[in-house]
Amino acid sequence: MSLLLGCIADDSTGATDLANNLVRGGMRVVQTIGVPAAPLDEDVDAVVVALKSRTCAAKEAVAQSLAALAWLRNAGAKQVYFKYCSTFDSTPRGNIGPVTDALMGALGTDFTIACPAFPENKRLVFKGYLFVGDVLLSESGMRNHPITPMTDANLVRVLQAQTSRKVGLIDYTVVDAGPSAIARRIADLRADRVGIAIVDAISDGDLARLGPALRDMPLVTAGSGVAIALPANFGIEPTPRASHLPPASGGAAIVSGSCSTATRGQVSEFVRTGGAAFPLDPLALAERRDPVRVALDWARERLREGPVLIYTTAVPEAVSEVQSRLGVQEAGDIVERALARVARGLVEMGVRRMVVAGGETSGAALRELGIERLRIGPQIDPGVPWCSAFSPIAQGVLHLALKSGNFGAPDFFAKAFSLLRAEAGGAGSRHG
Ligand code: ADP
Repeated sequence: MSLLLGCIADDSTGATDLANNLVRGGMRVVQTIGVPAAPLDEDVDAVVVALKSRTCAAKEAVAQSLAALAWLRNAGAKQVYFKYCSTFDSTPRGNIGPVTDALMGALGTDFTIACPAFPENKRLVFKGYLFVGDVLLSESGMRNHPITPMTDANLVRVLQAQTSRKVGLIDYTVVDAGPSAIARRIADLRADRVGIAIVDAISDGDLARLGPALRDMPLVTAGSGVAIALPANFGIEPTPRASHLPPASGGAAIVSGSCSTATRGQVSEFVRTGGAAFPLDPLALAERRDPVRVALDWARERLREGPVLIYTTAVPEAVSEVQSRLGVQEAGDIVERALARVARGLVEMGVRRMVVAGGETSGAALRELGIERLRIGPQIDPGVPWCSAFSPIAQGVLHLALKSGNFGAPDFFAKAFSLLRAEAGGAGSRHG
């Protein structure tokens, strides 16, 4: 069977978030790290190609996205989904508008939607305005984002600044009236030469009503929320089989380079409940005393007793102190390189179940472990599933949970390993 849905995501943890929603809808999904060099040899319903195209130059983002599109079409994708952040992260130069334009051009379509709504994560679109939690996008923390500050919550205006196509709106009254009303509105917008329509959605019910109206659209552009309603268009229903992974075994570990609030809480909770934890000091790393080796020796002694945690996670004051001594970029690079070595060392000593906390940290670990694609499994917490992957370092299968900074409940680490044990019917317990 050839591919049903081909997805292009503008960053890696966003790709996993989308894949997770498709799996919840019943699709079997693989996420690739970049555009694969060869055709896929696995029978799946959807592929999510994870790019790093959110904040690079628009021209580069377009080139990467068109390469992904070519690969997905070659794999037989019947519909294409361009996934961006639910806070619509972009600048007046792009990249959402230029990438959407290029994909529409390549697919020969004159109409698509744009909808970052994800009600489950409190991202709502109402009258074309994006709300984050209880406030407008422009009043949220996103207004101060270092690269993509979002100072206007009106998405029709934001997108119009990024594209020469006319941008319109399908508002909540239409969405509320259901799929036929949405289809009529789309016909009217097209007659009015609108190329891209922002869609209101303030509940999962809205997304469910939107789904059927997208059935014949060659291209859908959205956050991860809209994906919840798409598998049904292909006659696919939710099933636990979609998230089936090979059985897990081997040692268990957590590597954390995320300093986000949620991760800090998870590290504290792990330590509070008696977990074995080793803090890596970024300043010692800079002094070349090779604390990575010390950390790995420490872990080797403890692996048999349960998951071990190695972390650089720290409070903002400590991070600022390190950054002021080493420089912001340099500190990030040193820590990422060290944690990637930690991940590799752990796998070399038999770890096969690993949680990595932090988007950039995860990217560095995937590269170090030589991983090119992930099969998406069961959800641990919203936005974070277990995945399995072939790693040449493991010379076999690894189970990985890649957690972006602010995702997950305080007991995420313990929950992750107990879910994997439950899925495997006990096969993955301890040093199996
Ligand atoms: P998140 O998903 O929470 O943003 P990331 O891994 O994407 O996490 O980003 C965290 C960044 O902070 C990485 O570049 C990492 O190397 C860096 N970092 C982690 N710990 C420290 C620390 N103690 N001091 C300075 N920088 C750190």
